[in-house]
Amino acid sequence: MKKSDLKPGNDPRGGPPEKPAVTGSGLDFIREIVARDLSTNKHGGRVCTRFPPEPNGYLHIGHAKSICLNFGIAQENGGVCHLRFDDTNPTKEEVEYVDSIMNDVRWLGFDWKDKLFYASDYFEQLYDYGEDLIRAGKAYVCSLTADQIRDFRGTLTEPGRNSPHRDRSVDENLDLFRRMRSGEFPDGTHVLRAKIDMASPNLNMRDPTLFRIRKVPHHRTKDTWCIYPMYDYAHCVSDAIEGITHSICTLEFENHRPLYDWCLDQLNVPCHPQQIEFARLNLTYTVMSKRKLLQLVQDRHVWGWDDPRMPTLAGLRRRGYTPESIRRFCEKIGVAKNDSVIDIHILEETIREELNRHAPRVLAVLRPLKVVIDNYPESQVEELDAVNNPEDPSAGTRKVPFSRTIWIEQDDFREDPPKQFFRLAPGREVRLRYAYIIRCAEVVKDQETGEIIELHCTYDPATRGGSAPDGRKVKATIHWVSADHAFETDVRLLEHLFTTPDPGQIKDGAQMKETLNPRSLEVLEGCKLEPGLKSAAPGTRFQFERMGYFFVDPVDSKEGAPVFNRVVTLRDTWAKIEKSQKGGG
Ligand code: ATP
Ligand code: MG
Repeated sequence: MKKSDLKPGNDPRGGPPEKPAVTGSGLDFIREIVARDLSTNKHGGRVCTRFPPEPNGYLHIGHAKSICLNFGIAQENGGVCHLRFDDTNPTKEEVEYVDSIMNDVRWLGFDWKDKLFYASDYFEQLYDYGEDLIRAGKAYVCSLTADQIRDFRGTLTEPGRNSPHRDRSVDENLDLFRRMRSGEFPDGTHVLRAKIDMASPNLNMRDPTLFRIRKVPHHRTKDTWCIYPMYDYAHCVSDAIEGITHSICTLEFENHRPLYDWCLDQLNVPCHPQQIEFARLNLTYTVMSKRKLLQLVQDRHVWGWDDPRMPTLAGLRRRGYTPESIRRFCEKIGVAKNDSVIDIHILEETIREELNRHAPRVLAVLRPLKVVIDNYPESQVEELDAVNNPEDPSAGTRKVPFSRTIWIEQDDFREDPPKQFFRLAPGREVRLRYAYIIRCAEVVKDQETGEIIELHCTYDPATRGGSAPDGRKVKATIHWVSADHAFETDVRLLEHLFTTPDPGQIKDGAQMKETLNPRSLEVLEGCKLEPGLKSAAPGTRFQFERMGYFFVDPVDSKEGAPVFNRVVTLRDTWAKIEKSQKGGG
């Protein structure tokens, strides 16, 4: 890596968001352009954007950035944002993807109203414009093979060569193009190309292909077409047909802009939208290319597109992310002109902030260790008051049962406690949240394995609620669940799918397999939860005190049998590690 690559936001390990390109007006550079165009009445006071997904996969968090930007700009300026399926490649597209995309855009909180379009709706117009280009001497049918076309294209340092078919007459071109359409020729025998400049320094301008023959049915137009328009051609024309004012896309299309403009300049289209490029979202520990996400699904490294470890909106939703948190994240990272990698912990921090405010607190023991309180009356049960959310007094309190046998976290006991360990140990006291102070009297072990099976403790009846009347210090408070009342279920802990911070560099399936995190999913069976959680509704969120934020998986949970996914840990443990490495706390 070059040193210059290490400026903020360019570190492949991820950093804080690059300083977004915000001007004195407080607007990002795209909103600034829109504001300026409105003030000069460039588009007659209209703002019309579009979100143009290709239905060849599920939407991911990168798409969310584009959705928030396009729908956001329209909303803020009294404009409209179209949802347009860029369905020009019938071999990879499916109805399942169309449905999931609509569902995800709505879930994120945006509404395209009646502005739902498909590029395939314009196939006839795109074809007619193709004939117009031929008649204007701006397009020709080329009969070189794909390999030959590549060969003739030249390189970045060498100009291309003209196709031998470049000077076909208008009549011959029209005749061939019509016969291409009518299905006379097999795939790959002819293409329609723009006649621009084979010596252009921009390879996209070296007579790019506009139409190719593909004898495959399309999910919407079925067998009507056997020629399909190329993205660069279909996209700008679709934008113009729909009266888009600002066509916002990611940076890799910057080199395509001259072609976007060229097409619209040649054609008698209703308007000429402005293409504006911004930096796509990249996240550490995350792959964002749909091709790679599809591979994860196909190779069964994940359960499906909605696996809670996936960066898809369906996956994030099932993980427990809220639409608000994703919109907020997109706001935080802003819109910039230079590519960067955003630290995934910024996404995690966003949901943590939200859940801290809203998620009810509950007690749940994930790796249980049994504790018997010897001096607690055998059949006694007390209903203790527990606070639902210290951040939100209006959330009130609830009752949790306390009894003689309880579960605590295995981690909260050490037989031989290290120096900084203040929780339970032989002879030591600890406070049980909302309950009593207990002291560990005896450790019971498995005779054969030496494994600790249970603890015997005593409680101090004078400490109900957790405070000692004599003012003695008890440093630690731990959570617990009454054994007789516990609701037992599975809890899933989820981690990043990849061990490397920049899995975007992964080339193939084998390499992907190697970099997958073997611990990305840990299923804890037989966790002990406070009894009220038995009726937790699918799709609800909780803070398990001290253990993180959890979500009732809407797919795998049944009524009375919720299954929990950990959305995120309570603190950014990563930040803590960083801090300690720097010599801090
Ligand atoms: P992929 O490379 O993952 O297949 P794509 O760009 O081909 O993604 P599209 O369905 O064409 O996927 O994307 C629809 C819109 O979303 C486009 O306007 C594209 O610019 C935008 N988009 C896609 N990925 C990102 C990203 N990571 N960050 C921001 N915008 C994105
Ligand atoms: Mg695309």
